[in-house]
Amino acid sequence: MNQESAVLVVFPHPDDEAFGVSGTIATHTRRGTPVTYMCLTLGEMGRNLGNPPFATRESLPLIRKKELQDAAKIMGIQDLRMMGIRDKTVEFESEEYLVNMISSAINELNPSLVISFYPGYSVHPDHEATGRAVAAALGRMDKEKRPVFHAVAFAHNSLEDLGKPDVVNDVSDMQDVKMAAIKAHSSQTQLMTAQWEELLLKKDPDLLKRLQIEEFWTYPVEG
Ligand SMILES: [Zn+2]
Repeated sequence: MNQESAVLVVFPHPDDEAFGVSGTIATHTRRGTPVTYMCLTLGEMGRNLGNPPFATRESLPLIRKKELQDAAKIMGIQDLRMMGIRDKTVEFESEEYLVNMISSAINELNPSLVISFYPGYSVHPDHEATGRAVAAALGRMDKEKRPVFHAVAFAHNSLEDLGKPDVVNDVSDMQDVKMAAIKAHSSQTQLMTAQWEELLLKKDPDLLKRLQIEEFWTYPVEG
């Protein structure tokens, strides 16, 4: 993994970071690289209320906020920014608003690397809107000043259309951190991580790969 001067992570939902990139984030923070995480919503429309339920629709935003803060601490993120957009409405925000928000963070932080979703290949409308805004913000910058954009794609046709991911981070030494970050989002992940614990005892190869390898495509920013 390259040594970065600063990293900006932009995702719409608490837990997007834990599943996709928490091993990579933790690697950077443990090297002393500043990592900022802009989380656009509090995931208050999340489909789970805990199992057995410990949240209500009313309490879920606060619970997920606390989970996100806990996950950030586990990953070593010191700069967590909760941007206060309503869950499931990122796609309805004006693109200009989102792009300006991301542009001003880039101007302020001067990251050498930005991590977000790959527009067109990230399935959920909030994910798509986020990735599009990141790409647009970077597209407005001078080429020489532009940070690299490592994009997460998980649509079924990603491999077919984009080819193999060109960035493959071995984060096996961060496996426990990654698992802990995922677990921190317990209102959404409790049932799943309970199953994962059993699979880990059996050294399930698919799960191990999921926890130990994080893949990105370098996004070809236009403009
Ligand atoms: Zn998400």
